[in-house]
Amino acid sequence: MTKAAKTSISREQLCGYLDDSLCDTETARVEDALRHSESLRKDLRSLMQERDRGEHSVGAIWRRSRLTCPNREQLGSFLLGVLDAGFHGYVEFHLKTVGCAFCLANLADLEEQRREAAPHTHQRRKRYFESSAGLLRGKR
Ligand SMILES: [Zn+2]
Repeated sequence: MTKAAKTSISREQLCGYLDDSLCDTETARVEDALRHSESLRKDLRSLMQERDRGEHSVGAIWRRSRLTCPNREQLGSFLLGVLDAGFHGYVEFHLKTVGCAFCLANLADLEEQRREAAPHTHQRRKRYFESSAGLLRGKR
């Protein structure tokens, strides 16, 4: 009986169960199977752990860091688009979906600063470009 209960539930169904995306009948079937099968419960636990350790998905980062605000440097890097994809996603989520007022104010302030600094940045970039072009010429 234990075996039959386990084999009738697929990994996809367990995923669906965790996501709460199964219909009532399916949910009841999975719960029933879980009640009767220790090894299925083990499968479910390891699936949950896998997800928690999980990939750099926004959800995983969200669960790990909860509502933690990115610091000012991180917000600055976000503006420049130089954060790694997972963290960028988290900051974007924090700003756009959570709409953290503190970080939005901080970001607006940083954007303001950047606008003011823009002409200088441009010059710096130009100089950098020229000097690295010189470097390339020198190497040849
Ligand atoms: Zn925040």
